[in-house]
Amino acid sequence: MKGNKVVFPESITDDLHHCFKCGMCQQVCPTFKVTRQEYYAPRGRVQIVKHYLEGDLELTPTLEHILMSCMLCDACAALCPSGVRVDRLFRNMRVELDKYTTKKLGKKLVFAILRNGERLRKASRLARIGQKFLVDTLGTNSKMGNIPLARLPRITSESFRQKVPEKITPEGKRSGRVIYFTGCATDLIYDDVGHAVLRILGRLGMEIVIPRDQVCCSAPLFLSGAVKASLPNIFKNLDILDRVDADAIVVDCATCGAALKKGIPELLEDLGLDTERARRVAKKVKDVSQIVSERLDELPIQENLSGEPLAVTYHDPCHLVRGMGVAADPRKILSRISGIKLVEMEGSSECCGGGGYYQFDNVDISAGITSRKKRNIMATGAHIVATGCPGCRLTLRGNISEDENIEVLHTMQLLSRSLTNKRT
Ligand code: SF4
Ligand code: SF4
Repeated sequence: MKGNKVVFPESITDDLHHCFKCGMCQQVCPTFKVTRQEYYAPRGRVQIVKHYLEGDLELTPTLEHILMSCMLCDACAALCPSGVRVDRLFRNMRVELDKYTTKKLGKKLVFAILRNGERLRKASRLARIGQKFLVDTLGTNSKMGNIPLARLPRITSESFRQKVPEKITPEGKRSGRVIYFTGCATDLIYDDVGHAVLRILGRLGMEIVIPRDQVCCSAPLFLSGAVKASLPNIFKNLDILDRVDADAIVVDCATCGAALKKGIPELLEDLGLDTERARRVAKKVKDVSQIVSERLDELPIQENLSGEPLAVTYHDPCHLVRGMGVAADPRKILSRISGIKLVEMEGSSECCGGGGYYQFDNVDISAGITSRKKRNIMATGAHIVATGCPGCRLTLRGNISEDENIEVLHTMQLLSRSLTNKRT
């Protein structure tokens, strides 16, 4: 048979024949909405993959650009009436691309750093110094992608996991035991979220184990096609998470959660590797909002705050709403906090345009998607955007200027602020 020789699993290539080109996926695709070009739509990309596999297309920089300009937001796969697993199809195609294409130096460097925990910590210390130097020399308005340097989050001076004990026992009666998978963002950038999570879980009487040797979940690597490079980290984390006895594995980062819950078991399956341990771990993975929303009544939330309630809107991270199927729990938590009025924005589950490294690689498309999101946020009149993903927080915060006066926070930060000091 004529065609390019690829390592796609047959079950995934079969999906290509189930696409009946209805175009329904276009309506939800953020890159299509911005460009209005068929090849930036899921249907167009599916046809490109099909023609590539059939040998009608070669790997060219244009083909690479079209396939890498997909945000992997999974909106198309969630909607496709024919059940085409567009998300998995594109992820496998990226593995194919990775074999033949040369990555930019910056990306290569980031990937090499993410593969090693110690290297990541050292690099973050250097980056902290570099950050200040760049702002001082280039000025606060110089940008990385669409984000002014001064609005990028400051890297912490010390790793969160090294500052807190590896095991935290509750003061009162123990109500459960969880592993806290902090991810790189909480460990090195947003430790404010880490402290909020510890405070809340502690109030619920949870014993919390924070394995020091956990490493990057590897989503940035395998989602870009670098699967071989991602496997050592994946296996290391699975060893740790499967070894520690716990009721649940808690995440505060939607990307880590979706990777552990869905991405990694699917990846191992597509590679023809054993998935038993990954599926055992996946069953235990929960976003922190899921654990907390079940036990909201046990938390000492301040009541009857006087004054006008503060308008808060909620942005659904792609990896939380579609990767983990979590949408109701953060809203339940926000609605329970006194002094807050939850105002829904239009298109709350549409991508924010960040996509991790995507926003630095695809500056124009990313800007268009973020502008839509920003317009929807502004239309609510909210002064706070709550979300559950550090990547979305970085993108939204980076694209909202100081005079627009909108804070971007993790849902757990808002909840933690609302707790009294009273012991339950
Ligand atoms: S919605 Fe599904 S079947 Fe329709 S064009 Fe998109 S991928 Fe094909
Ligand atoms: S995953 Fe998202 S960005 Fe990519 S084709 Fe589907 S809807 Fe468009």
